[in-house]
Amino acid sequence: MKVMLTIKCGRCKNKVLRYKKIGQGRVLRCYFSRIKKIFAPVEEGKLKCPSCGNVIGEKDNGFFKMNRDEFTYSGRKINK
Ligand SMILES: [Zn+2]
Repeated sequence: MKVMLTIKCGRCKNKVLRYKKIGQGRVLRCYFSRIKKIFAPVEEGKLKCPSCGNVIGEKDNGFFKMNRDEFTYSGRKINK
């Protein structure tokens, strides 16, 4: 199952990422290769909300390790 997710800041609801997720389960990591759009700046390895500066995730080797209490998401199934 593939889902196109819109990930938003948990505090101010600003968009942070558009992400293609494969499989079910929680969003723990966002792999760079599946990020379709990034709305947020990455400063010193931290993915920050462009509006309030909330730290949504941290850069790791090939992915962002997501801070699960700091974001919300919604999505829809896609076929490709
Ligand atoms: Zn925010």
